[in-house]
Amino acid sequence: MEAKIKEFKKRVHGQVILPEDKEYDEARKIYNAMIDKHPGIILKCRDKQDVIQAVNFGRENDLEISIRSGGHNGAGLALCEDGLVIDLSEMKDIQINSDKRTAVIYPGNTLADVDKATHEFGLALPSGIIGTTGIGGITLGGGIGYLSRKGGLTIDNLIEAEVVLASGELVTANKNENSDLFWALRGGGGNFGVVVSFTFKLLEIKNVYAGPMFWPLEKAEEVMRFYDDIMKNADKDLYGFFAFLMVPPGEPFPEELHMTRVCGIVWNYTGPIEKAEEIFRPIREFGPPILDFVSEIPMPALNGMFDELYPTGLQWYWKAHYLNELNDKSIQVNIKYGSRTPTLHSTTHLYPIDGAVHEVSAQDTAWTNRKARWAQVIVGVSPDANDAEEITTWCRNYYEALKPYAIGGGYVNFMMEEEDGRIEDSYGENFKRLRQIKKKYDPQNFFHINQNIEPCD
Ligand SMILES: Cc1cc2nc3c(=O)[nH]c(=O)nc-3n(C[C@H](O)[C@H](O)[C@H](O)COP(=O)(O)OP(=O)(O)OC[C@H]3O[C@@H](n4cnc5c(N)ncnc54)[C@H](O)[C@@H]3O)c2cc1C
Repeated sequence: MEAKIKEFKKRVHGQVILPEDKEYDEARKIYNAMIDKHPGIILKCRDKQDVIQAVNFGRENDLEISIRSGGHNGAGLALCEDGLVIDLSEMKDIQINSDKRTAVIYPGNTLADVDKATHEFGLALPSGIIGTTGIGGITLGGGIGYLSRKGGLTIDNLIEAEVVLASGELVTANKNENSDLFWALRGGGGNFGVVVSFTFKLLEIKNVYAGPMFWPLEKAEEVMRFYDDIMKNADKDLYGFFAFLMVPPGEPFPEELHMTRVCGIVWNYTGPIEKAEEIFRPIREFGPPILDFVSEIPMPALNGMFDELYPTGLQWYWKAHYLNELNDKSIQVNIKYGSRTPTLHSTTHLYPIDGAVHEVSAQDTAWTNRKARWAQVIVGVSPDANDAEEITTWCRNYYEALKPYAIGGGYVNFMMEEEDGRIEDSYGENFKRLRQIKKKYDPQNFFHINQNIEPCD
């Protein structure tokens, strides 16, 4: 193998990192510190040719393969044990066409990189709420965030992708070329090949009226009902995700609220700014909130608002549900567990996935849950490895208690590795077609370190 690796090094432009190299431990670090995998080879790909070389080398030598973009995946699917990591984090080109309102984005970009580049042109891509997340994984899983009600999921804005298949061939997928692959990529995760570039359409958005509002925990039931009503009747310009949380002990939060358990909504209004005060009047009158940080801010400031609170290297464990309604029972379960978050960083978020997300049919993309109103994530997080068991148990118990009121399946990007059985439920009626497309493009299941879809006829 040594000789083969030596030869491989000569064929690629990027750095090949092996366990004996000084860069190794840094290169195998990912966002979730609970994951501790030891790959055999890490290739920091510099270009598409490197990706092709890596796929061919992996296949010819029968190696496990994992694909890394932002390294944010909670389950640690960016890494493999012993095999070859195709690390795309250095492939960072972004080309914006402001006339056409499109962007070609390479997979090494984080959401913060994308926000920065698009914001300069008064444009934005619907994606996630934390800047360090990678564009690769979030897009292929779906992509939920502050602009979902207005502009749909990240995949609903994908026009084209370039993909290196298991055979090593580089192909283009869009609605005319390899349209079955294009369909599968939009929600099917890293199952079909290595995406080396994404082309998106962008929304015209520069500043938004946005930020968090908190209410006392004792008002949680009222707030949840009020929130449900508001969102049910809101137009697509209004987004707000609901959360249970503990107020962080630092600026900009007022000292009297530090470490207090609260419920809150993080709002994003993208309509005409002169209408914002009017839209928020009933929201402010309800309660009223004990903290109100909602004001006009640039879109990237909203997307980066919680980055400092959630740096790389914390312990993460999470579980996901889709919900159609907030009924009496699901509200009670949420209050019970949401009031007992085990650590400062632990939380639960209910992300609305209606509005523009519902305008795409369940068969149009692999992402099938177009009727659910919320994607809920239950997140146990701590800087302390000693808390790993406690945060995991809280998450699992919360998840089980909420299960009877959920619609089945979950967002694949909010899952850990042990959830194989839930993959079929998550894709529902699209699962069979996904397996057939997998058979066509990756019959040997070469790309299986992911939320795996096994090939079949
Ligand atoms: C703090 C935090 C906040 C988050 N917030 C949101 C949010 O607001 N909205 C949301 O929708 N999700 C969110 N997520 C979930 C996120 O979408 C997933 O964790 C996603 O996998 C991260 O993508 P990545 O590129 O960083 O991951 P990586 O760990 O690099 O990759 C994960 C997997 O995705 C696949 N993959 C990645 N890139 C490629 C590629 N180029 N080609 C083929 N396959 C690829 C591979 O299977 C890989 O194993 C969040 C995650 C965290 C930790």
